[in-house]
This record gives sequence, C-alpha cells and structure tokens, in this order.
Amino acid sequence: MMGPVQESQAAFFYEFSLEDHVPDDHLLRTIDRFVDLTGLRQHLAPFYSPTGRPSIDPELLIRMLLVGYVMGIRSERRLCDEVHLNLAYRWFCRLDLADPVPDHSTFSKNRHGRFRDSNLLRHVFETVVARCIAEGLVSGQRLAVDASLIEADTNRQNSTAKDEWEPDKIDPDDAPRAVREYLETLDDAAFGAATPVQPKFMSHCDPASQWTAARKGPAYFAYSANYMIDTDHAVILDVEATRSVRQAELGAMQTMIDRTSNVFGIQPQRMIADTAYGTGPLLEWLVEKRNIAPHIPVVDKSSRTDGTFERADFTYDAEGDVYICPGGKELKQSRRAFKTSRQTKPDKDGILRYRARKDDCDSCPFKAGCCPKAPQRKVTRSIHEPSRDIARNIAKTIDYAISCKLRKKVEMLFAHLKRILKLDRLRLRGPCGARDEFHLAATAQNLRKLAKLVAAPKPISKMA
Ligand code: SF4
Repeated sequence: MMGPVQESQAAFFYEFSLEDHVPDDHLLRTIDRFVDLTGLRQHLAPFYSPTGRPSIDPELLIRMLLVGYVMGIRSERRLCDEVHLNLAYRWFCRLDLADPVPDHSTFSKNRHGRFRDSNLLRHVFETVVARCIAEGLVSGQRLAVDASLIEADTNRQNSTAKDEWEPDKIDPDDAPRAVREYLETLDDAAFGAATPVQPKFMSHCDPASQWTAARKGPAYFAYSANYMIDTDHAVILDVEATRSVRQAELGAMQTMIDRTSNVFGIQPQRMIADTAYGTGPLLEWLVEKRNIAPHIPVVDKSSRTDGTFERADFTYDAEGDVYICPGGKELKQSRRAFKTSRQTKPDKDGILRYRARKDDCDSCPFKAGCCPKAPQRKVTRSIHEPSRDIARNIAKTIDYAISCKLRKKVEMLFAHLKRILKLDRLRLRGPCGARDEFHLAATAQNLRKLAKLVAAPKPISKMA
C-alpha cells in the first residue's frame, strides 16, 4: 500500500538528543574517547586578557580544527558550514542544535595570535602522543624517519630568480606575514641557514618555501613534512616542518630524536631511514653521540662502472692505518719519515687519501684493471668511516631486511596524509603555517590510529 504524501509539519516542541543520533561506530565518536583537552584552558590562560569581551571557547576551536583534519575538510569556511549542518560534527564540538558556529575568521585571528604564542598545537599533539604511549601502542625501540614534499600555497609564476632576489631591501613593517616569517627564520637551521645555496627561484608571497624538482616532474614551491614514527603501530612520535632541502631534513631528524628523548624519555635502539639519511656525519652522530644502531643505507660513491677495482676490493688495516691492494701492496697517506710518530690529518673536505707507490703500480700485473689512466692508485676514506662500516655491517643482517619493510610504514602515513586527509597542498603560508598544518594533520592521524587499535569499553548494559 502506498503511504500518504510526506508533508513537513513544524512541531511546537521537539525532544531531541544529539547523543542518540551519533552512531557508536562513527569515526568522530570513536576518536572522541581520546581527545583530552582538559589542560587546554590552563595552558592558554596567560595569553588571555583579564578584561574585555569573553572570547570564543578555545576548546571549541580546537575541536572544530580536529574535525577538519580528521575528515579531510581543508577550507575553514566549508568547515564552519559543515559543523553548522552536520549533527555528528556538532556533537563532537559540544555544540547543541541551536548553538551558533564561530565565524571562519576567528580561526586565523587565534592562530596568528595566542595559539602560536602559546605553542598550543604542539601541546595538543604531545597530549595525543602521550595517550598513545599510555595505551601501549609505543615501545620506542624501533623508530623510522622520512620526509615528504607538500606543495606550498604559492604560484610558480609569482616568483623572482635568485640573482634578482634582494631580501635586504624588504621592509618588514610593510611585508605580508609569510614574508616576515621568512626574514625571522633566515638564521634557523630548518629554514634559511640549512644551506647557503639559494634556490633557483624565490616565491614572492611565501619566500621560505623551496623551489624544488625533487619529484622529477615540473618544479614547484614546497615545504617538507618530517615524521618520526614508532614502527610497532606507526604512531607519529614527532613532526617537524622544514625547507625541502636535504640538510634541513637531516637536521630535523636530530631535532626530533632529541626532543622525543627529552619529552617522553624514549631512547630508541634502532633508527630506520632511507639513503638520503646515510651521510657520514649523521651516521657518526647516531653511533657515537646517541648510541643508536643506524638501519640506514650508506651513501657510497666509491663504486666504479669501468670494471676497475673498487674501494671494496682494498682491505683496510686499522692498526697500520694503511689499505692493502689486491696486489698485496700498501697504500698510505704519507710516506715521509717523521722523527716522532705523527697523526695524519684529513684534507679540508674531511677525506683521507691513501696512495700506492708509483714503482709498485708500474710493475704490477693488475695495473690495467686498477688504475689504467693514472700513474698510481689512490683510495679515499671518510673520517666517518668507522660509523659507516657499522652501518654497512648492519645492512647484512636479517634485522636490517625487517627494517626495510618497516620503513614503508612512514611512507604509507604520507600517502594517507595526502590522499585521505587531502593535505597534498598547504592552505597556510610561511614556516608557521606549514608547522601548524603538519601538527594538526599528525594529531588527526594519531587519533585515527588510537580509534582503530584501542577497543572501546563495552557499555555496562551489554556486559551484563
Ligand atoms: S696497480 Fe698498484 S694499487 Fe693496483 S693492485 Fe697493482 S700495485 Fe696495487
């Protein structure tokens, strides 16, 4: 039987509970258990004036931002509309049906002001990491690090070639916020001071972003999102925004290891990363300064393609500080006879150079396969070679093969960040904007991880 035509009839009274209308398995209900913002007001209290008009509740703003990042809503205008219309979003933000939703401009005012001054987003991120640790999702033994390019919110046409870029002539009082942040971070190891090499082009509206063609496609302006994760459950332990250059990303790894140790007391046994992190100084820092086993491929440019002997064919004798060539001869740094024993030093580039005797090579039957175009053979050795050797020996173990698989977990988090959370292009400009976005995204990813891995307690009625 066909039912009657549905006509809307406004009722005088409604009995309506938002609590009843949000399903138990809704993503926001599952993560709400882990959102603890009780310390937020206390954290922010010094940044509010004791007089004046009462502000919008900062917890409401943070909850709205979390909705945006967890559900992949990138626009703050759209976020306000969605929270206004969506019952589950209202429930998560503790808004009743009739409560007004803050204007989108409220976010930028708070973000540029007291949120950044109080480092609030970092506080929220660390609160969620602490919860992950408390729930037993982090052992802290095997950590992995990687960086991913996130396109900056800037147009490639709106840029200047490096030869014509004159930062000295920028008036900070008359410059946009992102340009002022660029000037303030010129001496910051994660940004301006990461490398003296200037990029080919500088963006006018976000000069701290890096012109890069690292993806082997058309070049664009980008920032790097650096993640350090615990590989047990891929919980993000730390996040850092840097310029998209190798030096800044290596520095971010050191910053994140020390910060995680200071904040959470985590001392990893193993650090997993890709070849970009396999430089001599960084391996030495891990092995000698932090006593961490580097499960990292060594950057090694000693291989040869012309069929002649490689450095690996020469044996290093640590006691005599000489290399023994395949012909059984010694290669030394110096053949001068000193009256007292003298420690040989590396050249200015930090490389030790060992040479064979010309007479030995001239009469050697292997010369054509060793140094056909040079009078004698030369072998180089980094001052960080002992640490590089440790990393090479680790690379022969079964644990290293496992680490290579675990490394994929951090790459999967970046794929999730870009495809599900839709953070493939930044919406905010400047180093602080990138930092804010990466912290909120990492917080959202950790909350989703908690919701997925930690079972909800059963309601008392179901237990009985
Ligand atoms: S060419 Fe010189 S360095 Fe090479 S194997 Fe012969 S003696 Fe040794």
